[in-house]
Amino acid sequence: MSDKMIYIDPHVHMTSRTTDDYEAMAASGVVAVIEPSFWLGQPRTQVGSFQDYFSSLVGWEPFRASQFGIKHYCTIGLNSKEANNEALAEQVMELLPLYLHKENVVAVGEIGYDDQTPAEDKYFRAQLELAKELDMTVQVHTPHRDKKAGTIRSMEVCLEHGLDPSNVIIDHNNEETVQEVLDRGFIAAFTIYPKTKMGNERMVEVVRRFGSTDIIVDSSADWGVSDPLAVPKTASLMLKRGIVREDVVKTCYSNALQAFSKNGKMKESHWLKPAGINQTQLYNDNSVLRGQEPRIDSDQIS
Ligand SMILES: [Zn+2]
Repeated sequence: MSDKMIYIDPHVHMTSRTTDDYEAMAASGVVAVIEPSFWLGQPRTQVGSFQDYFSSLVGWEPFRASQFGIKHYCTIGLNSKEANNEALAEQVMELLPLYLHKENVVAVGEIGYDDQTPAEDKYFRAQLELAKELDMTVQVHTPHRDKKAGTIRSMEVCLEHGLDPSNVIIDHNNEETVQEVLDRGFIAAFTIYPKTKMGNERMVEVVRRFGSTDIIVDSSADWGVSDPLAVPKTASLMLKRGIVREDVVKTCYSNALQAFSKNGKMKESHWLKPAGINQTQLYNDNSVLRGQEPRIDSDQIS
């Protein structure tokens, strides 16, 4: 690797971010993102709403990312909040296999518990079975309330269903949950929120205390107060605070690559030897430009 650090943000909801964010992320060294499927901030009312959203995660959004030199992957699943609408959840479950096979889908996710209701439990388990059947990695959202008990329960359910813990990324960890996650052989991801919850100063201390094995940093940036540059910013802070470069590379790049590349869809060659950017390209006749001069890299000039 050259001197310039490169990063993967393995949990970021780019659909709700702007092109300025893509530009800033690329300039900060983010080479690849993984966008978990989640809710919209309000409940969907029809299965078609899920279908169009999943389609955008495997279609328009990877195109949009490519226009700024970022490789986009996603995870597909029924999120915990919307698992509580059982009639709709049943229809979403039928859709999932169609999307899990798409070329940029690297895991089933983000799935798990929100309020830990019986319906959430039912659809979490059903999706773990689906992941097992398709031999896919799982990305687990842990509840923000009753965090520790909810995290332990999530892992116990995964083990009960016979999943290999090294194929399961447990997200939204904190200092209280990380040891339990690592002890059980799962991968521990940390969401770095600005000004609250896990800030990046706290993340530096987590790496100092727990090391870099099986630990991943992400932004979970979405339509709420969040920071799509959380991964590069945390990496810079780690280096400044004396964390060795190897540990920064592992937690902000290579552990995510290893965890999410198991089905062969995410490959380092996608960004180490990228095709240049060509903003004259269209997706379904649509461009990301609004009359600006398109960027066309030299290898794209025909
Ligand atoms: Zn998320």
